[in-house]
Amino acid sequence: MALKALDIYKLLPKKNCKECGDPTCLTFAMKLAGGKADIDLCPYLDEQAKSVLGATTRPPIRLVRMGVGERSFAVGEEFVLYRHEKTFYHPPGIFFKVSDTQSAEEIAAVTNRVRDESFVRVGADLQVNGIAVENVSNSRETYANAVATVEKTADLPLVLMGKNVDVLTAALVHCGTYRPLIHAATLENFREMYALAKQHGCPLVIKAKGLDELAGLARTCSNEGIRDIILDPAPQSLRDFITTSTSVRQLAITRTVPDLGYPVFLDATLSAMQDAAVALGIVKYASVIVAAPLSPASTRAALTLRQNIYTDPQKPIQMNPGLYRIGSPGKDAPVLMTVNFSLTFFTLEGYLEATRIPCFMLIVDTEGLSVLTSVAAGKLNETLVRDSMKKFAVENEVSHRNLIIPGYASPLSGRIEEATGWKVLVGPRDAAEIGDFLQKGVEKVDADCHVLPELP
Ligand code: SF4
Repeated sequence: MALKALDIYKLLPKKNCKECGDPTCLTFAMKLAGGKADIDLCPYLDEQAKSVLGATTRPPIRLVRMGVGERSFAVGEEFVLYRHEKTFYHPPGIFFKVSDTQSAEEIAAVTNRVRDESFVRVGADLQVNGIAVENVSNSRETYANAVATVEKTADLPLVLMGKNVDVLTAALVHCGTYRPLIHAATLENFREMYALAKQHGCPLVIKAKGLDELAGLARTCSNEGIRDIILDPAPQSLRDFITTSTSVRQLAITRTVPDLGYPVFLDATLSAMQDAAVALGIVKYASVIVAAPLSPASTRAALTLRQNIYTDPQKPIQMNPGLYRIGSPGKDAPVLMTVNFSLTFFTLEGYLEATRIPCFMLIVDTEGLSVLTSVAAGKLNETLVRDSMKKFAVENEVSHRNLIIPGYASPLSGRIEEATGWKVLVGPRDAAEIGDFLQKGVEKVDADCHVLPELP
């Protein structure tokens, strides 16, 4: 059972020496209770305290780092079964799989795609994470060449997939200190595999059917000094994967079976419904997902789903308040006010850019609440708008005194006019209509697109 901060504090040395990086033992205890610190940071713990605290304060699922350099990422270190309880912290890595029987051109094309393809959603760059190279040929040379092709093409996190230790050993020569994930140690080859992982300092996937075998193999490898372990439950079907990965998560986060406290692996290519398998993996606790290269549409869908699932449900994604420019707005450009909820910002920004009408976006701080919610909660009000206009010196940027507010903020229009002295124009409720709204006004008054629309 997890210890509370005060229980942990009682076990600490109480020197308040700051060597752990925290100002006091109590703040360190609070971090430990939240799973945000490691007991090894305190050099003064005795063995008994270490064993008690180690079992209860380490994250129930180990953090495992994949790759090195810019595109490296971490998986694991999750604390809850349902994201509404807290949040999920580390999104799964998605790897496109290539086979060593493919030509070098084909392998390089997939690698280039993973390296270069990305799209921006809600202010974040979304990308597939890396390449999984499967050994089908069973030839050392062929496999080593395939891995070398990926390595030469891009610095991406790698998964080396194969059963033959000799073949994997030959490929690891090309990886240097890159620490690819090795897939997989099984009951048949685990001794050779953990020796290989240990020699090259690589994370290791353990593959076994059934929770007992999985936990047993993980314990054996951990006892041999392999810390970075990922579990492949070798599912027979998607249903089997959901059942097993859910059980792994439950048993890990309740610390019922600490040997299952590792991230989970899913090879989605084993399913005839690969797109569905990727989606299920994202929502049902997979931390590493290998898939044959998805179509651009399916890639976007998977990355969007991943972003949604791994966004903190209790913390709206916020933009920094400020005055943002769309294009190169002049003194007579429209000024549109809205809230700092990221989805509102990026949606409106996209529609405004599509209009090609240069304008200003005044973003006010509603702590990430949407327009409708912030009006209802009283967070969006005339004082906030007035103060934001002053703070960001909006009047210095334009020569007119017209402010467009969102349709859902229409109840505030009179009060905003009184507080600011600006004429308030109520825009549409739906950002998709902002183009028509501005265009109508523009067409009515000025073909140069530089004047404000009048209310219908
Ligand atoms: S290093 Fe240990 S003794 Fe020093 S402040 Fe941190 S917890 Fe307390």
